[in-house]
Amino acid sequence: MSTNASLFERAQRVIPGGVNSPVRAFRAVGGTPRFITRAQGAYIWDAENQRYIDYIGSWGPMILGHGHPEVVEAVQKAVLEGFSFGAPTEREIELAEEILKIVPSAEQVRLVSSGTEAGMSAIRLARGFTGRSKLIKFEGCYHGHADALLVKAGSGLATFGHPTSAGVPPEVVQHTLVLEYNNIAQIEEAFATQGADIACVMIEPIAGNMNFVRASVPFIQRIRELCDQYGALFVFDEVMSGFRVALGSAQSIYAKALPGFKPDISVFGKVIGGGMPLAAFAASKEIMAKLAPLGPVYQAGTLSGNPVATACGLATLKLIQRPGFFEALSASTRSLMDGFCAEAQAAGVELTADCEGGMFGFFFADQLPQHYQAVMAKGTDKFNKFFHLMLDQGVYLAPAMYEAGFVSAAHTADDIAQTVAAAGKAFRQL
Ligand SMILES: *Cc1c(COP(=O)(O)O)cnc(C)c1O
Repeated sequence: MSTNASLFERAQRVIPGGVNSPVRAFRAVGGTPRFITRAQGAYIWDAENQRYIDYIGSWGPMILGHGHPEVVEAVQKAVLEGFSFGAPTEREIELAEEILKIVPSAEQVRLVSSGTEAGMSAIRLARGFTGRSKLIKFEGCYHGHADALLVKAGSGLATFGHPTSAGVPPEVVQHTLVLEYNNIAQIEEAFATQGADIACVMIEPIAGNMNFVRASVPFIQRIRELCDQYGALFVFDEVMSGFRVALGSAQSIYAKALPGFKPDISVFGKVIGGGMPLAAFAASKEIMAKLAPLGPVYQAGTLSGNPVATACGLATLKLIQRPGFFEALSASTRSLMDGFCAEAQAAGVELTADCEGGMFGFFFADQLPQHYQAVMAKGTDKFNKFFHLMLDQGVYLAPAMYEAGFVSAAHTADDIAQTVAAAGKAFRQL
């Protein structure tokens, strides 16, 4: 029988680092990555037939749990009709209509195959629409691995960023300004000095790539005002938060606090594909009219709107609209985090946690961090130890402190209780 270790060794011979996406390699926490053979409901099994309660859910898409029978049926039916045509299909219209019905801020949507592609296209669209080059992003937010986004803050606010990856020429990131998340004074200063050149501000409104950090309501409100004042577009990257923190995505949560609030462009992925390669970006008709073939902003894809992926996404979106779906999911997630906090307190371990819908984060710190530096300041060693203590007890958390966690509708009260009990044991061993 293959073991995780033997597969990892074999993988490393033919795949760089043995993985097709870096975080899977367990570099942050150490140890051998688990090679997954199958999944069902809330569980995944590795090559050694060890079962885990899965809190990654493919990094967010598996909101229904793995192998939901209605999704499987839709996919099987679609496969029999054909894998890919490179021509339009009715199902693409259905998925677009479904997305726009749930997300009223947008009037049109373009389907693509990955969140990276969607984010990259949204930026091109914002630049094409405004005729400007500069973009603002925030440290700790991930918007995919497009060249212009692989950037860290420069030495001062007035300086543009430096590439964080080899292979990205400095000129490619010279228009990208990286600011601190939740820092209103910084973005006010950025607009005051270069507002006329800023095409867009891109944000993860509830960030899931620096653990779990919410943008404050005043922060979102101020960015909206600045974008309106200076004619820049506000881009919500909801690849992770979309259809995950609430049916209407994070924007529906901010619209409750700020009546009438909407972003100009929304980026989706993960949940809308239900585990298949599918992502999207959406905006008003006026903005989307700039896209090819209507307008001058080029964007294309051989597998865009793939018939199997759209069937999977459509079935997923239908199911998450059932009455009570998000109430139940939110309650599960909340009980998991409440359980973690209670067990940590009993064990004398400092812990704070937050969650929204089916997404959560916990920190070995005494208060919730508001930006990336604060996330990374504390608790790494504790997290890495905790991760392995949980894995050994059959609980699969994201293998890095800077990642959020995900609960699915398939997680039962018993799964949550078992996880909380495992956490209790782990906290006592930290
Ligand atoms: C996952 C993610 C992306 C990138 O999506 P891929 O499908 O991995 O390319 C972009 N933005 C956010 C917020 C994400 O979480």
